Amino acid sequence: MRIRVGHLYPDYLNIYADRGNIAVLAKRAGWRGHELDVDEIGIGEAVRPGDHDLYYLGGGQDREQLLVSHDLAAKSEPLREAHAGGAAFLAVCGGYQLLGRGYRGYHGDDMPGVGLLPLETVAGDRRMIGSVLLETAVGPVAGFENHAGRTLLDPGAEPLGRVVSGYGNDGASGYEGCRLGRAIGTYLHGPLLPRNPRLADWILAQALAHRTGGDPPELAPLRDALEAEAQAVSSARSARRGRPSRRPA
Ligand code: GLN
Repeated sequence: MRIRVGHLYPDYLNIYADRGNIAVLAKRAGWRGHELDVDEIGIGEAVRPGDHDLYYLGGGQDREQLLVSHDLAAKSEPLREAHAGGAAFLAVCGGYQLLGRGYRGYHGDDMPGVGLLPLETVAGDRRMIGSVLLETAVGPVAGFENHAGRTLLDPGAEPLGRVVSGYGNDGASGYEGCRLGRAIGTYLHGPLLPRNPRLADWILAQALAHRTGGDPPELAPLRDALEAEAQAVSSARSARRGRPSRRPA
């Protein structure tokens, strides 16, 4: 089956090689006999709900976010329609912030967001940097965070996971990321998916469910020995970093 991915602003939102996440999805799809077709969607290019099974946004510095935010906000209606129609979303860091209602950057710029995820973000003075470990519905998720933004989820909103070590959304709530139906936003770079194969497969299954109109399929298990090792190394790094009570000043 062909899984159609809409990769938003790959030229602007690709900090820490976030596009590596797409490579992981392509490989894991391929090993199950599926193909990933990736369309790049840039500034001024239309989003047509129904055309893509998965939308992907990487991270970026405030400068890049500012360059794309107004164009992205102009696409908010078709993006929300795509989500309501069952398309999956994965948004990392800068992309995660912009999938919410908006982000006020470090220099005070107000950037509008898509308004898909129930959250808002404001940059603080100190960056939150280092390895992170989460406990999520698909098991442990390990990664690396580097953000000034403090993200506040609306009451009742579902986080991606609980912070075992690291800062997470705001360094205080003990939660990281957000999940709304088939959309996931997270601060975790790394890239995220090479060391978190269960999360990668969850996203693939959601995209396949959009493609078929059925339930998310059970994907055939893969060996994942290297992936497990990568996750263990990353988890050990974040364990050395300590509990989330280390709040940023
Ligand atoms: N510019 C945003 C922040 O500092 C996002 C950073 C990122 O994508 N790494 O919070």
